[in-house]
Amino acid sequence: MSPLEYTPIDEIPKIFTELKRGFGSGKTESIQYRKEQLLQLGYLVKDNLDRFRKALYADLHRPPIETDLFDLSIVIQDVKNAYNNIDKWTRTERAPFHFNWFAMKPSIRKEPKGVVLIIAPYNYPIFLLFGPLIGAIAAGNGAVLKPSEMTPETSALIAELLPQYLDPELYRVINGGIPETTKILELPWNHILYTGNGRVAKIVLQAAAKHLTPVSTELGGKCPVIIDENCDLKTSARRIMASKVANSGQTCVAPDYVLVPRHFQDQLVEAFKETLDKFYPNTDPVRSDSYARIVSPQHTQRIKRLIDETRGEVVVGGQADVEQRYIAPTIVKNVPEDDSLMSEEIFGPVLPIVPVGDIDEAIAFVNERDHPLALYLFSKDEKVKAKVLENTQSGGVAVNDCVMHVGAYGTPFGGIGPSGSGYHTGKFSFDMFTHLRVTIDSPSWLDKILSGRFPPYTEKKFKT
Ligand code: NAD
Repeated sequence: MSPLEYTPIDEIPKIFTELKRGFGSGKTESIQYRKEQLLQLGYLVKDNLDRFRKALYADLHRPPIETDLFDLSIVIQDVKNAYNNIDKWTRTERAPFHFNWFAMKPSIRKEPKGVVLIIAPYNYPIFLLFGPLIGAIAAGNGAVLKPSEMTPETSALIAELLPQYLDPELYRVINGGIPETTKILELPWNHILYTGNGRVAKIVLQAAAKHLTPVSTELGGKCPVIIDENCDLKTSARRIMASKVANSGQTCVAPDYVLVPRHFQDQLVEAFKETLDKFYPNTDPVRSDSYARIVSPQHTQRIKRLIDETRGEVVVGGQADVEQRYIAPTIVKNVPEDDSLMSEEIFGPVLPIVPVGDIDEAIAFVNERDHPLALYLFSKDEKVKAKVLENTQSGGVAVNDCVMHVGAYGTPFGGIGPSGSGYHTGKFSFDMFTHLRVTIDSPSWLDKILSGRFPPYTEKKFKT
């Protein structure tokens, strides 16, 4: 039975009003208060590491190491980063010196937007809720977290723990499905961060438009991998496959499909097979403790259908057990470009390989489709690297690796076009929830110098 209690719908506007009141109290103006709340969030995670691991194991059969690496440790690191830098981030900036303006002391104040809404998907529920929350707290906002109903154990745990650690006058969790989220979206939030799929993002954007609420979207899509035959084959295969099987492929920046020179395809397939043998030695991944499950039977069925309908050649895996939410690590070669596996984001452990003539054809293939959240290239050739970088667009790029760019300290994470708008992680989350408020303070004596701004606009004034 699901342990997840949905927030009663008529409570939702009340929560919003309470948070508005909390924000209006001015508490969050204090940097000390924000630091305390950040530390509390850090303790929330640190005190409950094992409960989070267990919750995600129950929800996704997620290996605890994956939870440590991709959810828990990132949040702890982000808390430390925000705590250590908050004084610098929040400091009012003076505008660069300019003779005409300096007397007015033009400045940029970093002010909170107000009460913000953070909606997260199921795949990395701790990082995708708490990461942005860190930015919201550091920037001085109140916030509502809306976890996914697809991970009931984790979402229930978050709802249990948040009020024990954070100030409920400013930070709350609302749990629920579509009716609850629809109610939430009727309210005039001061900013919304939606992470999830593009279809729901359109619903969120339409609802936000009614209040002219700014929205940042962190979405998905099909992240391509371009293989140059002049690459380190073993390393490439290992890094691609690790990123594909982590969380059973349910990662927004997981490599979705591979473009490879036609004559190099079989060598690549062999390298993938060797890699999988090493990842799951002497056992079927179904019995491995290092392999997660798909979030629901419906999603498992969706991925199974993509495999069933492919016109490519399944060379590894292909097994699916809908009830057990299991899809084997699967490699499909000779996939046509209009194949089922190329019709939507796979979001599962299935890797289609599309053979192409050369790098130019691979670049054209990528450019004919939506700008991806991440683009991957495996090559040792600097000219090929430059060519791919200069002739494509994507949220981010990793050369000779997959996924790792998301964690690179001090860099933003975000998509472009259909893969999202806006940036988060670290200082970029702080920026997302910060209003840059310009101020000047204009002394009376300036009117003697700038008298030309006042009517009557005489010829003499115009000349000066
Ligand atoms: P999901 O089903 O958990 O939904 C996301 C959120 O939207 C949930 O909180 C859910 O309650 C809410 N929701 C669902 N339907 C709704 C509706 N009709 N109206 C209002 N709210 C609704 O997860 P998902 O959307 O399937 O997540 C997977 C997608 O998220 C993939 O496309 C993946 O690539 C993307 N993603 C992107 C990032 C990123 O940072 N760019 C990170 C993780 C996942």
